[in-house]
Amino acid sequence: MASLNMEGPYLLIPDKIDEVVTSMQPGAFALGYIADVNFVVVYVGRSDKNLNETLKDWVFRKSDCMFFKYAFTKNSYEAFVKECISYHDFGAINLKCEQHPQRIEGTDWRCPGCDVYK
Ligand SMILES: [Zn+2]
Repeated sequence: MASLNMEGPYLLIPDKIDEVVTSMQPGAFALGYIADVNFVVVYVGRSDKNLNETLKDWVFRKSDCMFFKYAFTKNSYEAFVKECISYHDFGAINLKCEQHPQRIEGTDWRCPGCDVYK
């Protein structure tokens, strides 16, 4: 079974985000809910600059996402790669992501899981 390799799950509330996502770094995250004891991934995303801030933007935005998992990355490129891998590992169309992860405009980043960016 695919693994996110992320910390959590934690409750998706501002206080919890401040408690665990403590440095201003890029990173990737997953949003979802708990069924029995399993974290069910509903959405995956990333932050290019500040994961703490990006996660707070997601509080209350998806009613079925009460929990999050996260992983810091060294830079925004690694955040993009981790987002893409999670996106494909967790079934892309099963997720409630409107579209494939977007690379930063002007970069030649490629997805490790498909050839959407050639
Ligand atoms: Zn892809």
